[in-house]
Amino acid sequence: MTLSQLARAIQASPTLALNEEARILREKGEPVIHLGIGEPKNKTPINAILSAAAKLNEGDVKYTPVDGTPSLKRAIITYTEENYDRLVGPENLIVCSGAKQALYNLLFTLINPQDEVIILAPYWVSYPEMVKMVYGVPVIVTPEDGTFHPRMEDIRRAVGPYTKAIIVNSPNNPSGLVFSEAFIGEIVELCEAKGIYLIMDDIYHKLVFDGKTTVSPFRFTKGDPESSKVIVVNGISKLYGMTGFRIGWAVAPRKLVEIMINIQAQTTSCASLILQAGAEGALTGVQSVIESLRLTIENNRNVAMDELHGFRGVRVTRPDGTFYCLPDFRAYTQNSVELSNFLLRKALVVTVPGSEFGMEGHIRLSYSGSVKDVTEGIARIKWALDPESPNEIYIGDRKLIRDWL
Ligand code: PMP
Repeated sequence: MTLSQLARAIQASPTLALNEEARILREKGEPVIHLGIGEPKNKTPINAILSAAAKLNEGDVKYTPVDGTPSLKRAIITYTEENYDRLVGPENLIVCSGAKQALYNLLFTLINPQDEVIILAPYWVSYPEMVKMVYGVPVIVTPEDGTFHPRMEDIRRAVGPYTKAIIVNSPNNPSGLVFSEAFIGEIVELCEAKGIYLIMDDIYHKLVFDGKTTVSPFRFTKGDPESSKVIVVNGISKLYGMTGFRIGWAVAPRKLVEIMINIQAQTTSCASLILQAGAEGALTGVQSVIESLRLTIENNRNVAMDELHGFRGVRVTRPDGTFYCLPDFRAYTQNSVELSNFLLRKALVVTVPGSEFGMEGHIRLSYSGSVKDVTEGIARIKWALDPESPNEIYIGDRKLIRDWL
């Protein structure tokens, strides 16, 4: 059997292997703590449940228009007006099965073979793979100074004749960094001067801390909705903790949306009617659910930072948003895959190796779970690595003794 070369070139995720190992350990009754997954623990907002349930009760669940139900699109238009101060029409909008599918459709729409897409490290794992899946070339820009903030001059230097787009994710998965207003302004300016698309992945845009806010990239565009180079991707997964509903969208010029619709029509037809109804319920329902989720996550962030600050040799940049942080473990090892494997086996804690995000020597910790998981998870990591920490620990009801340092 011969398989597609392109498909074979797509990276298998070490995280999946780790998750699988964690699942097996959990099934065996082991008290595994998951600091790997970025998924809030909240219950689905009631308005989303009622709205989805109402559709189910009608018993008339059919295809919807490819680009989404008109009523969900209206809710997203209002969301865009209220949160981005940008008036767009329904022709500037496509609803997809998650922000992930919106990004993939978008790249499929934009990229010719060998076109380049600039990706800023640390980056979300899927960007480079998605670019490769449409025969594009990911061009990674990594900050040289050990921070998580790439420099404008490095981005400018990466732009070449084949550059088609730049992807910016702020707040950033995995670093938690919120890019400054000035930086977003400069990127928009650069993209519009060079005729490059700016894909803003805004999936975490309201999960920000310490009174910070994110800026609407549309504020800096000189173009109207048809000529602007700014594209915004967003969704309900993170803001409302509705990952399983799989609804996201893209706001883009009409000519792009038209092609995205063709692609979606030929691949998945449309997002599920029931889940679109759920998303509409969330967007039009009580919005305090976002704030209560944000407060919970901010508190978890504070707990995670307190725990990590007492960790010898570990350097951590305080996240401004998301539910991740990306501590630097290079004082212990350069090999993050080995480190994540070690932590799962010895301490029963799931983490994600920084190499997946283009930041070797770091690991990503998610604080989207409970305070107890965050505290205990980091305590276990400390016990496993730091020779100055007490060499005994209770994991579940077992007392473990560290005998490897
Ligand atoms: N972008 C980023 C940066 C993400 O972290 C995620 C989810 N992990 C997504 C997009 C995809 O979101 P969705 O669930 O809407 O597909």
